[in-house]
Amino acid sequence: MEDRDASAGADEVWFNGRIYTTDPSFSRVPALAWKNGYICYAGDDEGARKLAGRNTAVENLAGKAVFPGFIDTHLHLEMYGDSLFKLCLRGCSKDQIIRLVQNAAERTPAGEWIVGGLGWDNGGWEDTSFPSLRDLDHAAPHNPVLLPRIDGHMVWLNSRALAAAGITEETPNPPGGEFLRGPDGRLAGCASDAAADLVRKKIPPCDKKYRQKILLAAQDKLLGFGVTGVQDASSTEDLVESLKELYRSGLFKLRVSGALINALGDHADPGMAKCLARGPEIGLFDGSFTIRAVKLFADGSLGSGTAALMEDYSDRPGYRGKLMYDEAELYRLVFEAAKRGMQLMVHAIGDAAIDETLSVFERVITGLSLKDHRFRIEHFQLIQGDFCHRAKRLGVLAAMQGAHGPNNASMAEQRLGSGRAENSYALGKVQRILGRIAGGSDAPVANPNPLDGIHAALTRTNDKLRPPGGFYPENALSRDAAVRSYTSWAAYALFADRERGSLEAGKRADLVLLDRDLMEVPPDDIPGIQVLRTVIGGETVYRRGSVSIPL
Ligand SMILES: [Zn+2]
Repeated sequence: MEDRDASAGADEVWFNGRIYTTDPSFSRVPALAWKNGYICYAGDDEGARKLAGRNTAVENLAGKAVFPGFIDTHLHLEMYGDSLFKLCLRGCSKDQIIRLVQNAAERTPAGEWIVGGLGWDNGGWEDTSFPSLRDLDHAAPHNPVLLPRIDGHMVWLNSRALAAAGITEETPNPPGGEFLRGPDGRLAGCASDAAADLVRKKIPPCDKKYRQKILLAAQDKLLGFGVTGVQDASSTEDLVESLKELYRSGLFKLRVSGALINALGDHADPGMAKCLARGPEIGLFDGSFTIRAVKLFADGSLGSGTAALMEDYSDRPGYRGKLMYDEAELYRLVFEAAKRGMQLMVHAIGDAAIDETLSVFERVITGLSLKDHRFRIEHFQLIQGDFCHRAKRLGVLAAMQGAHGPNNASMAEQRLGSGRAENSYALGKVQRILGRIAGGSDAPVANPNPLDGIHAALTRTNDKLRPPGGFYPENALSRDAAVRSYTSWAAYALFADRERGSLEAGKRADLVLLDRDLMEVPPDDIPGIQVLRTVIGGETVYRRGSVSIPL
């Protein structure tokens, strides 16, 4: 932590603050300085003052707290942006949703799609069974309607939507998806994963202009939350091209690491296969954009009943969900991606899916003698036995979402029973064995405010402080660990730890200024902390409107 270029003066010097560097010893210093986008000093006030030249902006922080810019290691940028412009169903009862659709139908020309954004959650309804097509047929008789479930693994459809996709009572379930049927054997109105995709692809694709609009809207929100970098978990060719254009135009500041989807296997999208063939693209646009990961799904979700379990679902005897691929096929895909130098991110919720993924990772890692692979399991929800130790031995990372634990509490109890629910999103247990976990929101599934995610990981309660007492609070993270999961450990999970994730000389000046000290306030006050300023590469990219910092 020393001055690299004292003679010319720093671009900006901050002093008299509580600056948490999240360096290896989690040290706190009062002062920080940067120049040309990089931190040149983190230390005491006196040392910092020497760096103030004639053109240096000097800021007295008056005891306010500074952290490395937050990194969300798992979200869906385009879906999140899109959700900001669509029907918001999150937290709504079934009746409220039907009313929203009714209103939308009144202002939508016949034949045009009505599509939901942030999804419905039957786990929070009085009647938790899956909703039916009849409800939506009444609400929107002349429009196809598609409403995603909160986890994105299921959609609620009306008859027009099924007809638009050519789905009839005779249509068989596609591999990796199911059209739910009623007791009478007729289509009930919900479709999971690959079955949902058959309908989804009938929705006219969003054009380039719309995509840029939603990406910029997503960026605005994220910068306001103090997020300076994200791992996008579903990067398509269109997204990659749009982001490149936005970076080129100078409008995009948020750092993005992309994970290619649908890039492998017999049903690969040709455009995506082309992206994959380029191999890793690292640090484009001055370290802003990287594509070095491939995303695969080993199973679906618990809420949709599509997670692959080793034992029966507690609420559906004889049923264990389904793996997306048999082990030989998953191996083939992982091997192909790893051979091209890509990092693997495999979504695995159920214990059968995690088990399969660990086995496949082990074979590929040993087969290719991979050293610093940083393969990731996304969600790592239902663990058991030696999963954590296997992951640790292999150097496999767990990317886990703090808010998913409490948000899924009742669903986990219902589908898994309490014996297994205890090991659902067991962040603390996983972190204590693996050493680190990567934090994130999975937005739009949860709100991407890192302070919400940190609060949930600490208290095991959600933004409504439920469930009371927390969801298996013994699986909470410590405050240091929760902060690291969004900073230093997150950067590691993105292969960005040499550049970001801590406030040390030589790292990028990506940081966030908060109005209160995240390390000191009572846990339930954390979500109310305000972000005053967000800085990326030394440039202030967000400043809270009316707040001025007293000098
Ligand atoms: Zn996700």
